[in-house]
Order: sequence, then C-alpha cells, then structure tokens
Amino acid sequence: MKREGSIRKSPRFICDFMLGRLAKWMRLLGLDTMYYRNTNGKTIIHHSRKEGRRILTRSKILADKYNDVILIESEHIMDQLKQIANLVDIESPFSRCPVCNTETKDVKKETIKEDVPPYVFEIHNDFKRCPECGRVFWRGTHYKEIEKVINEIKS
Ligand SMILES: [Zn+2]
Repeated sequence: MKREGSIRKSPRFICDFMLGRLAKWMRLLGLDTMYYRNTNGKTIIHHSRKEGRRILTRSKILADKYNDVILIESEHIMDQLKQIANLVDIESPFSRCPVCNTETKDVKKETIKEDVPPYVFEIHNDFKRCPECGRVFWRGTHYKEIEKVINEIKS
C-alpha cells in the first residue's frame, strides 16, 4: 500500500455517511474532502486507499480496526472542525465547491450575469465558478459567517 506523506502537507479526506455536514464545511475550508454515502465499511476502506484519502468517521469500530482511519470524537460540528484544524493547516478557504468538492476558478464578472440575482451582480465584483457543477460563488453574507467559524476553530 502506497503511503501518503505528512497529513499536513497533502490532506485528502473521505467522510463516511455520518459526516455529510462536516464534509461540506471542510470543502468550504478548502480541504479536498469526499463524502461517502455508502454505509459499508469495507468499500470505504477500498476507496480511500485507492485515492490516498484519510477516512474520517464517527465509528469507533472502524477507527479501531484500521490505523489510517481518524475517529471524529464529537457530534458537534464546531468541535469536529476544531479537531480538523488541529490536524491540518487551513490554507485556502473558499477555494473549493462545497457541493461537489471541485476547485473553483475565478471568472470575469460579465460571464456570470445570468447566474446570480441582479442585486448580487450590482454590489459584487469578484466571482468564482465551479467548473464541475457550474455554481457561482461570491463573498456575500454567508462568507462572513464562514470567516467567523474559521477564526474560531483556529484560535
Ligand atoms: Zn461544484
């Protein structure tokens, strides 16, 4: 089995079926995170090894059985995110699509006019698009909330 380098340097994760909310948040933090809906423990192991991803789970049984599986200790999202922030550096938040885990790309304002509400188009200038699902992102009100969360988990 091919071993990944330091987890801090090349963090790639796969969240098991119990951690969908965490997966979405990790993507907002810019972390490459797959969400695995299948409940079968064996297939998630196979998948994670094939792609060099660390498994995050709430299952103690799974975590005890395999040493490359990380047990997420809390059921609360803020504590879960703090645990992640202790494992890896949060270097590029807002660089990944929270829905499909693809890296977003800066796009010219003219190209997204049809895809955002008119008031958003009026007041914002910087937009990113997910090349996979086509969603457009901007630094709206949601952005401030996420920044607050990042500051809190880093402190
Ligand atoms: Zn996407």
